[in-house]
Amino acid sequence: MPQPQTAPAQQPIRHLPAHLANQIAAGEVVERPASIVKELIENSLDAGARRITVILKQGGLQYICVQDDGLGIPAEELHLALAPHATSKISRLEDLAAIISMGFRGEALASIASVAHVQITSRNHDDERGWTVQGPAAEDKPVPAAHPQGTTVTVQELFFNTPARRRFLRSERTEYRHCEDVVRRMALSRFDVSFVLKHNQRTVFSLPAAAVDAAAQKQRVLRLCGRAFIQQAMALEFQHGAMQLHGWLGLPEAARPQSDLQYFFVNGRIIRDRVISHALRQAFADRLYPGRHPAYVLYLTLDPTEVDVNVHPTKHEVRFHHGRLVHDFLVRCVDETLHLQGKNRSLPYARQDLDWHVPASGNAPEFSEPGPATVPPRVAEAASRYPVASASDVNRLFGSLLTVLHDRYALFEHPSGLRIIDVPRLYRDYLAHQFQEMLVEGRIPQRPLLIPQHLTVAIDTACLEEHHELIEKIGFDLGVTGKHSVILRRGPVLLDRIDITQFIPVWLGELTRHTALTLDEVVADLLRLAADFVSTPWQESELSPLLNWLMNSKEPMVHPAVGVLDKRMLDTLFRS
Ligand code: ADP
Ligand code: MG
Repeated sequence: MPQPQTAPAQQPIRHLPAHLANQIAAGEVVERPASIVKELIENSLDAGARRITVILKQGGLQYICVQDDGLGIPAEELHLALAPHATSKISRLEDLAAIISMGFRGEALASIASVAHVQITSRNHDDERGWTVQGPAAEDKPVPAAHPQGTTVTVQELFFNTPARRRFLRSERTEYRHCEDVVRRMALSRFDVSFVLKHNQRTVFSLPAAAVDAAAQKQRVLRLCGRAFIQQAMALEFQHGAMQLHGWLGLPEAARPQSDLQYFFVNGRIIRDRVISHALRQAFADRLYPGRHPAYVLYLTLDPTEVDVNVHPTKHEVRFHHGRLVHDFLVRCVDETLHLQGKNRSLPYARQDLDWHVPASGNAPEFSEPGPATVPPRVAEAASRYPVASASDVNRLFGSLLTVLHDRYALFEHPSGLRIIDVPRLYRDYLAHQFQEMLVEGRIPQRPLLIPQHLTVAIDTACLEEHHELIEKIGFDLGVTGKHSVILRRGPVLLDRIDITQFIPVWLGELTRHTALTLDEVVADLLRLAADFVSTPWQESELSPLLNWLMNSKEPMVHPAVGVLDKRMLDTLFRS
């Protein structure tokens, strides 16, 4: 488990030099209660807290309070804590490379204070009394307040001054689940710190510190991830050079229908990374049924100079300098563990020093799976909702496919002549039909994006407010993060072939030009535009759901997307 960290030395809070502020990736966005909970817990951990209590009311929408027993903040620095770009954590950019504290941009509290009522009460370790402050302005003088050593930050009425953003928050229940997940991740990342989570007066977890005791650690994982997981998981520990992997790997039987129990920590930080998810998927590949996802709580430690952790403002992504090496190490560890388990079901623990050859040049992993850097993210394949038309049905009516011409026309050779399908046209009707059916059923299947996408939009996001319900109904999970920025987390499964990140800004522009649209109008608009954003050329293999749908329509041959050039017409064409 991550080792307890030694108490950090107190450093004064300073304003960052302007050039430094600019060098640092812009804008942490306070998106939802969970992002606040995360920032506050990180601050507590940075302050060396051994005990952190998180108290939430109404999913954090109404009230978030994080109490710690850390170093505390000196009275004269209290208001600085709320000022933008004020941090006690760095003063030179070089520090970034070796930074061990969780957050360092000096803007979290300031941005939280700009969208909610924030109060900080703290007693510094060498002060006899506590102090409290309510805002960054000079007139917000700290006043004395009773407080044990440490800091309590309360955040109330999130987005009270930006109602448009408040509208984009989800239900209390959903926001609560996100907060709980943040606390869960933090508690999985720091066994040496005790965590308490309370929601609406109920204690959800109360986890004693478990820095060294393996049984206590297992107990914590059980409380956070459930008994079913821990019972079907294998503890593992592997080492290769300076790289170490340990934790709990759910056996194939513990695989889940969603990828919701996948916690991967790199040097103590939770991350989501495609090198890692690819490695795990590859290692599990033929041991899982399609559509099942492995469950795991894994900790990778490696030389900090081998990894950049700040490539993304929310810091869930990393960049490995030797991605291929990390990838192969993980595949190997998981594979060995599953192999061992297969041979001897009772083996409780896989522990090994791995000795294998490092590829000569370890840089630049090449993965074929879509990732944000190369291929625009897509919502994965739509499941067919119709009885599958047999190949011979298609064959009888259309003959055999010759080619797809200009990414658009599918040409079929039929004994009676040529058959042509205008694929985008057919696709539009297919989408429209599917959408309509789903709307009637009142449920549009959605799928989360591999990585939520931050998008810049030309419109003022305030005008999205009135369309919020429609957007959600259609199947998008879209959050407003700024005046011209949104975050896209999910999209309708049906738009699987659409480059959704290109499409959304254009579509929102269209949408907000009108008021009081009906759902039908919105859907019609959406589909008209969407067909122009197909992200990859049409290929033979992608035609089958469309053909299948067409074959199930009453009269496939008279569909407006179908053209026929029969033998007689050909003869006429070339009669000399
Ligand atoms: P950052 O964490 O990037 O420095 P924040 O806005 O999150 O920026 O916090 C600003 C400063 O306030 C921190 O650098 C730290 O000195 C102080 N601070 C915030 N929360 C705490 C806490 N719980 N305990 C002690 N100091 C804190
Ligand atoms: Mg911080």
